[in-house]
Parts: sequence; structure tokens; C-alpha cells
Amino acid sequence: MRYRQMSRRLAELDRLDRGAQRGRKRRLGRANLIFIGCALAVLGLVYGLGRAFPSLLTGIPGPWSVGDSAREPSPTGTGPHAFLMTTPTGRPVGYDPCRPIHYVLNPSGQPDAAANLVQDAVHQVAAASGFTFADDGVTQQRPDLSGDGGGPRSPRQNAQPVLIAWADRAEFPRVRGDIEGIGGSTSLEPAGPESARYVTGQVVLNRDGLAELLNRRDGYVRARAIVMHELGHLVGLDHVNAPGELMAPNYTGLAGFGPGDREGLARLRASPCW
Ligand SMILES: [Zn+2]
Repeated sequence: MRYRQMSRRLAELDRLDRGAQRGRKRRLGRANLIFIGCALAVLGLVYGLGRAFPSLLTGIPGPWSVGDSAREPSPTGTGPHAFLMTTPTGRPVGYDPCRPIHYVLNPSGQPDAAANLVQDAVHQVAAASGFTFADDGVTQQRPDLSGDGGGPRSPRQNAQPVLIAWADRAEFPRVRGDIEGIGGSTSLEPAGPESARYVTGQVVLNRDGLAELLNRRDGYVRARAIVMHELGHLVGLDHVNAPGELMAPNYTGLAGFGPGDREGLARLRASPCW
């Protein structure tokens, strides 16, 4: 019963997300910041998903685990995927694949058990997508979830590195209850809508929710998957209603990207070099 209530609430959140998304997709033409709040069906971890994903409960890494040297996109699958933003001709908007995506981490509020969580998740996304990420260290900067997030107004301005931070509801009301993370990027269109590309972004992680998850058995792999989901938004993936994909709006217990996620990442990685 509690589970059903939770599901309904999550579905409502998802609908809200999708309504906002339609508005976002029309808003081509200036720098804008796309944020997606992500719901985590925490109770799903308890109710039956362990049977559907037995490898998670035994802690055996799934086929998504990759070695440190992996850089090329992993063997791509095909499956459902979606993009937060596309150009008028249908090209998915992503980061320049020929430059590293620089990021900084604000570790304030980071749970003790999450010491390497963000770097680990970034590595997983890099390996799955082929994008290179550059760790620019730590910062005290706080996220800005309003408006365009203060991003650059033109590509001539130095783009700020992606900011990854931990936060709670007191600071950001959107980080509440089941919302385990918010991620998005700022796009620029220096030469019209077809030139749209992401230049910076932010990921906000729910420190209370993830701290609780990290205390559970196999919590680390699950928390890492949630951070990967947010990073998926960062690089341009939208939600898909497919429980076999990590970009499903509600976390279903996957340890890593599914085949559709990988196809979407490969398409983002195939963006033109600017
Ligand atoms: Zn999401």
C-alpha cells in the first residue's frame, strides 16, 4: 500500500517533469539551463526488485563495469532513449565530443560513504559514452537552480566547469523526499539553433537521501547508478519509460546503463566537434 502511494507520487513527479520538458524543448534560441529532478523509488529496493536484479543483491558487478583504461564507448546496445534537447533538424544537443567536460565538486555535505562516489560515477559515464571528463578539483561554489544558472552568454566567454554538489531540501526545495538528484546543462547557440551545444552544467545530489541509501546493503552501487543517471541528464539524456534503462524516471535497481542508454550516449558522442 505504501508502495502504491509512493508509485503514484513518483508518477506525478514524472508528469511534472514531462510538462516542464515540453516547454524546454520549445525554448531554443538562447542560453538556457535544463534541469531534471529525478525520483528514486526507494521502496522499490525493498519490494521485489531484488528478485528482478539478483546480481545487485549479491554485489556482483553487472556487465556495465569497466576497467580504468576504458575510454571508447562500450559495445553499443540499442533501445529506448531520449534527449533533453534536439535541434530543428533532430540532432541531439550534447557537449563538444572533442573537448573534455571539466567539472568541479563541492564536497560540503558529502556523506562519508560517498568519498569516491562522484569520481567513480563520472568514470563510469566516461567509459560508457566516450566523453572525456577533466576533474578540476574542489570548489566552495553553490549550485544555482534558477534561470540560466549564470552560465556564459557566448562561447567566447570561458565556460564554467560543471558543478557537482550535495544539497538538502532546506537549500533547494526541489531536492525533497524522493528526488535524489537534479542534473542539467546550459546550452549555447552561437550560430543559430543548429549550432546548439552544451557548455556547462550542474548536478545537485540529495545528501540525506543518498546517505540513507549508502547505509543499505549494496547501497554504494545503487547510489553510484543514481549519480550516473544525473550525469546522463548532464550530457543530454532525457527520461525514458523503460525499466531496463538507467534513464527511467524512477530508479529500478540497475547497476549501470542499459542498451538504450548506451545508444543515446553514443549518439551524443557523435555530435560535431566545434
Ligand atoms: Zn532523471
